[in-house]
Amino acid sequence: MNQIILASQNKKKLAELSRILAPLGFSVITQDEAGISDAAEETGTTFAENAYLKAAFVAARTGKICVADDSGLCVDALGGEPGVYSARYSGEPVDDARNIRKLLGALEGIPEEKRTAHFVSAVCMIFPDGSRIEAEGRCTGRIGFAPRGTGGFGYDPVFFMGERSLAEFTPAEKDAVSHRGASLRKLAELLAERAKEN
Ligand code: IMP
Repeated sequence: MNQIILASQNKKKLAELSRILAPLGFSVITQDEAGISDAAEETGTTFAENAYLKAAFVAARTGKICVADDSGLCVDALGGEPGVYSARYSGEPVDDARNIRKLLGALEGIPEEKRTAHFVSAVCMIFPDGSRIEAEGRCTGRIGFAPRGTGGFGYDPVFFMGERSLAEFTPAEKDAVSHRGASLRKLAELLAERAKEN
């Protein structure tokens, strides 16, 4: 198996990346496990820019294959917010429950049909020779009126697809519809093409 370093300390993200990339022959370890505890400043204005910054930071320090995901929630009624600021929407340190409370507060009085939203995941993989591949995935749903479910992470309990929140999906169900599932499947296709060329 090829080993890839994930430029993140988010264990839930690691779990999602691992289970999607493992069948493709990649084992994923966190940057902590590779001895890197600091991280790039996410100064980009797009998910793709931040994914690149994060992956490049760890790649420069390890010389190994590194992957980063930058993701977030874009809510139509809030003009696309919290967007690239999703993790720290309600301030530091990152707190999913507080983020959800802030989001539900910001949407108070907004009716169901106007609570449309989408998640975006931009992934960037950087190779020791400096080359890189990038992909993006999205999934569309709506923000509920109260959190539901215990699975997933982040805004999953208030992100509804059909009658259920993403926190009520099994991990396999989430991977099949999620932004990260989509971005990583595209990345896997690019990896396969790259393997054929080399
Ligand atoms: P990042 O680590 O800067 O990419 O922050 C991503 C943030 O977006 C997370 O902290 C979550 O708040 C949110 N987010 C990204 N992907 C998901 C997901 O799959 N479910 C729920 N929230 C997510």
